Amino acid sequence: MDRRHWLAQQDRDHVWHPYASIAHPPLATMIVSADGVRLYTAEGQALIDGMSSWWAAIHGYNHPVLNNAAHDQIDRMSHVMFGGITHEPAVALASMLVDLTPEPLQKVFFADSGSVSVEVAIKMAVQYWHGMGCPEKNRFLTVRSGYHGDTFGAMALCDPVTGMHEHFTSVLQQHYFAESPGCRFDEPWDDAYIQDFKQLMEARHQQLAAVVLEPIVQGAGGMRFYSPEYLRQVKMLCDAHDVLLVADEIATGFGRTGELFACNYAGISPDIMCLGKALTGGYMTLAATLATNRVSRGISKNGGVLMHGPTFMANPLACAVAAASIRLLLDGPWRENVHRIEQRLLSGLAPCRGFSGVADVRALGAIGVVEMKTPVDLAAVQKQFVNQGVWIRPFGKLIYTMPPYIISDNDLDLLTRTIVRVAQSL
Ligand SMILES: *Cc1c(COP(=O)(O)O)cnc(C)c1O
Repeated sequence: MDRRHWLAQQDRDHVWHPYASIAHPPLATMIVSADGVRLYTAEGQALIDGMSSWWAAIHGYNHPVLNNAAHDQIDRMSHVMFGGITHEPAVALASMLVDLTPEPLQKVFFADSGSVSVEVAIKMAVQYWHGMGCPEKNRFLTVRSGYHGDTFGAMALCDPVTGMHEHFTSVLQQHYFAESPGCRFDEPWDDAYIQDFKQLMEARHQQLAAVVLEPIVQGAGGMRFYSPEYLRQVKMLCDAHDVLLVADEIATGFGRTGELFACNYAGISPDIMCLGKALTGGYMTLAATLATNRVSRGISKNGGVLMHGPTFMANPLACAVAAASIRLLLDGPWRENVHRIEQRLLSGLAPCRGFSGVADVRALGAIGVVEMKTPVDLAAVQKQFVNQGVWIRPFGKLIYTMPPYIISDNDLDLLTRTIVRVAQSL
């Protein structure tokens, strides 16, 4: 047996993949290298990447600037504990994040993944109200169709139907769910859209530590784009009822929606913000939870300390690459690129509107979505895409793409033409 077949066999026999059966594993595509917007398979095929490795690889793969940042840092130190120690990569990155995000966000906690940054946000909100002498404010309000991660605290805030609640009902914290925002991104506002949320807020605010939601774009819970006015209304209701607002910008952060952060569309500033995914340009795992001075002061009352501290907190390698990735983003024409991608996704995917199996086509920033009427057969559709030289991984009824910002018009057209062909065939 050659090495390639041996690896494939070992993978199927021993390695768990995301949300996949290990008893009947679907065939995984073996990737041996990646460069720019292309993933190279063990068979020598080039696949145009339509996923940015789940929102992360915004600059594409094997980027010389990010490679250099990693090399420079690895020759100095890859990791050192963060308890009682600090280092330039972490401090420089924290300072950048504070500068980039809305002004009230002043304190940065580095976590190792998006889910953990949501756990930290939950802890911050609970500890804040504890510090303020209101320990009864320990519940959360969110909206349906949300996704906030796979750990228990985060999972309890994911959509109760499409999320994983049914598997863990007996162990999940019970929170409050308002209807998902009904007003689409550029639809005219009507106060009816906020009624359900408002009623829950009015009824429950005395128990509520915070509202947690994804601003403007709901990602893995349904790829829905909603009106900035909804977010403004949520912020006003939070302020009026003394409830914190947590913005989960893990998917939306760093330009993906057309604004640097999706909160900017509404001109609002949350009390706590979670960042991850594109933070390191997709090089390695790192996330951050940012908080205002108000939140940090509440937590610190009576000598309180935030009760979290991962072993690999503020990993210097990840921090150095993150700082390089953010500089690369800000120094380049990211806004023009994302806008160009949006226009091209809209025109390129438009033919799907005519297909009988298609329910909706939408794009915002560098995110394009073709929503089918029925769930797609993932294994079959995945194979169709790979055969046509494209890496797209649908879920449920959704065929969607969020390519690296550096994708050329030609490659993007190839991507959308392939999506159109596949959607037509379903
Ligand atoms: C991906 C995602 C998370 C979880 O991040 P992980 O790094 O996968 O733990 C949380 N919230 C949102 C909005 C996400 O898109």
